[in-house]
Amino acid sequence: QIGQIRSKNRAARLLLEGIRGETPAALGANHGRVRSPRKWWAELLYALGTPQSVADDSILIQHGAALAVVRTILLGGSADERGKAVLAEHAPILRRLLDSYDGVFSTFFLSTLHRLYRLTLFGRGALGLGVGRAGWALSAIEGLDACIWLLQLRRDVPGSWNEEREESYNFWRGRANRLLLGVEALRPPNPPEYALNQAERELLHDRLGLSGDGRLLEALPDDHPYCREQNVLGCYPLPGWEQKRPLPQYKPFEDELGRAVESSEEHRCKSGLTVGEFDAKVAAAKSEKAGKRLQRHTKGGFVFCCPHRVIYGFHAMLRGESPRDPFAVLYTRLHRHNLPSFLFYDNVCKLRAYSMRREPGFFADMRALVDRFHFQKTGAEAHKCGPQYNPDYYDAVRWVNSSAV
Ligand SMILES: [Zn+2]
Ligand SMILES: [Zn+2]
Repeated sequence: QIGQIRSKNRAARLLLEGIRGETPAALGANHGRVRSPRKWWAELLYALGTPQSVADDSILIQHGAALAVVRTILLGGSADERGKAVLAEHAPILRRLLDSYDGVFSTFFLSTLHRLYRLTLFGRGALGLGVGRAGWALSAIEGLDACIWLLQLRRDVPGSWNEEREESYNFWRGRANRLLLGVEALRPPNPPEYALNQAERELLHDRLGLSGDGRLLEALPDDHPYCREQNVLGCYPLPGWEQKRPLPQYKPFEDELGRAVESSEEHRCKSGLTVGEFDAKVAAAKSEKAGKRLQRHTKGGFVFCCPHRVIYGFHAMLRGESPRDPFAVLYTRLHRHNLPSFLFYDNVCKLRAYSMRREPGFFADMRALVDRFHFQKTGAEAHKCGPQYNPDYYDAVRWVNSSAV
């Protein structure tokens, strides 16, 4: 852990010094002020500085396809047109930065990029798979780390490159590319590349929401005890939305009723209140009567709908709305490959943190975005989680209405 913090701090220092180094010398009155001519650094720095509880750094790259492009760059290559399109779709903040450097990141950014790659790769549910050994993800990253160390040496120490280093670099690069492809995509590796043992394979399948032997789960019968609560409270009649798995109790973070042990996990992004508390506060401020009305009824309905506002399903909420509401439905009812590529929700930054803590493999490739109405709203309810959650950065949803009603 200490090693990780050191390498994070070292990467951050290199990055800041690098950006400072780009500041033109004669700026006049404002001495000491950093003004890089590349204006997109501000977004990246904001993203890196956001509190862990609403935006961990891994959402900058997040998607498996974007990881593959970043790997190519880290191994000394550059992003081709296809790679740039992937970044534009899944990691737009990196894409803008790349464009502002004419397609090649400057070297002072590479340590940070390497750290982001590792963080993202390990945060997607591939870590801790090793039963009695280092495991798949750690074995795979070894090659990349070795290559990056060698490339750095070649850059920093002139004359250090020789035939032996070249050979070693080629060996590790081949191994990194072969193994990391599967880890990035969370695709179980073929035995000649890396043989997962029985327990590891079952664990990986479980994290992807599959049966132990890797098949899709069937819908549970309607009268199954796992379905009782959702049958009473919810209505999700469309094919594909049948309940398929139970909602586990995530022991370290939840009590036996499924409430988060750290209540901040269920808070809104900025106000530090739960959704219910926030609404009650607003209502109370408006008038006493409205506040009382809010207390007496259920906590409202939760609705899923498509971009055309066709409703997929809904459920009634008995306790205050929390990230648990969308999480429970998406996790217990959908196959991983049927999850939306982009999900809009007002408190989505908390939902993302909530889901990645519980089922990182399952939710790894789903991009969570704050709807435009809530992202742009100023005042107590505004978001502080940063540009990664801004729907206007993602071309795929540029013309999509992001509000349900
Ligand atoms: Zn539709
Ligand atoms: Zn937020």
